[in-house]
Amino acid sequence: MLAENDGRKPLKTRGPVFVILLGPPGCGKGTQARELSKTVGLVHISTGDILRKAAREDTELGRMIQSKMTAGELVPDSLVCQTVVTRTSEPDCESGAILDGFPRTLDQAIFLCPKLPLRQTIVLNLQISRAVLMQRVLGRRTCPACGEIYNIHFRQPRMTGFCDRDSVPLERRTDDNEVTVRQRLLEYEEQIQPLASFFKDMNIRQDISADVDPAALASQLSVLVRAAIDASGKNLG
Ligand code: ADP
Repeated sequence: MLAENDGRKPLKTRGPVFVILLGPPGCGKGTQARELSKTVGLVHISTGDILRKAAREDTELGRMIQSKMTAGELVPDSLVCQTVVTRTSEPDCESGAILDGFPRTLDQAIFLCPKLPLRQTIVLNLQISRAVLMQRVLGRRTCPACGEIYNIHFRQPRMTGFCDRDSVPLERRTDDNEVTVRQRLLEYEEQIQPLASFFKDMNIRQDISADVDPAALASQLSVLVRAAIDASGKNLG
């Protein structure tokens, strides 16, 4: 049904929707975020991708970021928070965004939440048994041109080692080695408890098992996000 409009202002039927994806390294967060972005039409913001790009720059900042990432440590909150504010202020985020990898600490969440329309924010907490994580991360390969994520165990490209879309050789992330992955998991386990409780207290967290077929998980997530997008129109009224 059409709402009344005086003919001058464009009708705003939906508010922005923010999706926060939580989950350990290797749970498939990045793959799911990219897929969701295509199916629900929200911008995908990956702090890992933004930081990897910044780390390639031959500057003091770039080198600092690179050394943190290689060690499996977190980049300082202030830097990541500023990065996200800058990115979400761009016009393509007017309808909201999918935040992949942010917030990752309680301080980042405390910083972010006052800036979000909380009734239109949904936190999807992906959970997976630790046993499968290692295999997933160590098997991950990425296209340096388009960022598409493959896996040598579960999601192989048509031609081994090459991206289906760009035909360029796939790469393994420098932080996807056993030592760094263990450190990243430790870091994650330390941060996730307070972060998950924070979102639970706000009543915006949903726990989802990521230990399933990626296509099934993708459709489950898109149903949840579409429902949030539909509800956002009602929230505006
Ligand atoms: P994963 O979730 O598999 O570890 P990401 O691509 O999300 O992969 O992140 C890679 C690395 O980038 C992290 O180990 C960390 O060093 C850095 N990073 C990404 N997001 C954040 C964040 N929100 N805060 C601090 N560091 C971050």
